Amino acid sequence: MKRRDFMQASLVGGASLMLSGCRRDEKESIKSTNINRGKKTKLTLATSWPANFPIMGTGIESFAKRCLELSGGTLDIKVYSKDVLVPALQVFDAASSGQIDAFHSGVYYWKGKNSAFSIFGGVPLRLTSDEMMTWMDFGGGYELWKETYAKFNLYPHIGGTTGPQMGGWFKKEIKSLDDLKGLKIRMPGIGGEVLQRLGATPVLLAAAEIYTALERGLIDASEWVGPFLDNMMGFPKIAPYYYKGWHEPGSILEVTFNKQKWDKLSIEHQGIIEAAAREMSVKINEEFRYKNALAYSELEDKVEIKELPSKVMDAIKIALNGVLHDEAEKNIDFKRVLKSHEDFYRLNKKWDDISTKHFLNIRS
Ligand code: CA
Repeated sequence: MKRRDFMQASLVGGASLMLSGCRRDEKESIKSTNINRGKKTKLTLATSWPANFPIMGTGIESFAKRCLELSGGTLDIKVYSKDVLVPALQVFDAASSGQIDAFHSGVYYWKGKNSAFSIFGGVPLRLTSDEMMTWMDFGGGYELWKETYAKFNLYPHIGGTTGPQMGGWFKKEIKSLDDLKGLKIRMPGIGGEVLQRLGATPVLLAAAEIYTALERGLIDASEWVGPFLDNMMGFPKIAPYYYKGWHEPGSILEVTFNKQKWDKLSIEHQGIIEAAAREMSVKINEEFRYKNALAYSELEDKVEIKELPSKVMDAIKIALNGVLHDEAEKNIDFKRVLKSHEDFYRLNKKWDDISTKHFLNIRS
């Protein structure tokens, strides 16, 4: 909107013009949604989490409840926890084939399908949760996500963000690059590839296996999420050093639908799912922040918080650029999505540095 139009619209006459415009749009939209109003729809949704798993598991249950409430009981989404209908990490394939209608999971799990998906999940040392949401909504991220998921017959929505994750639990301190050589660490995604370039051995382990592997020394270190969920896993009992994060600044969760099922839903039901998914996303992010803050206040005197030495971080930055560059050469989707992500990162960084980062620095 040009300045003159904005000033005009701010006057009483302009405002009433805008209002009458809104009413017309509203009427049209109500008319179109009446077509499917009242039609009962049942959908199956599988998750990658155990039943009632804190934050993610309870979040998706609330989402289904909200869909039922907001639709006057016509949109009934039945949530199945992991391994009931399909194993935790087969929900993507099951929704793609139509075996289930939808799933709630983490986007970074699917980089084997298309490496570009790891960018929608989150990139080390790049966008935080808030920034990821803005990139999705205003920086072109969501359009690219829908486009690349359509090739797999899927239609995604943001289904939560974890906020900043911690760097993980280590049995030994990392004092130099040499300490990374041969280090067996559970770290999925791009972060694991970066450490591999620096001589570490990333190990893929499902959540349930991490504690025993770390306790028995089968691995030397493991990342998981943050203070709240990490403490529940019992990591403080078996690894003394808790490192600050670098690999997951704000990972995105998803609530994704089989595309044919999505396209057949009424506009009303689609709108309810979009609104309830956004509500869940915001609340999951808030709940992570609150519970991590509480858990950290109890943990801070019991564990040693560490930061990787600057020389190690410098090497990580170089290795990360190498991983991103090489993948972009191999996969055109990765290249396009990375460009959009990096363009927004550079644009927003300048603004965030003088605003959010400034406030965080000056408050005491
Ligand atoms: Ca993690």
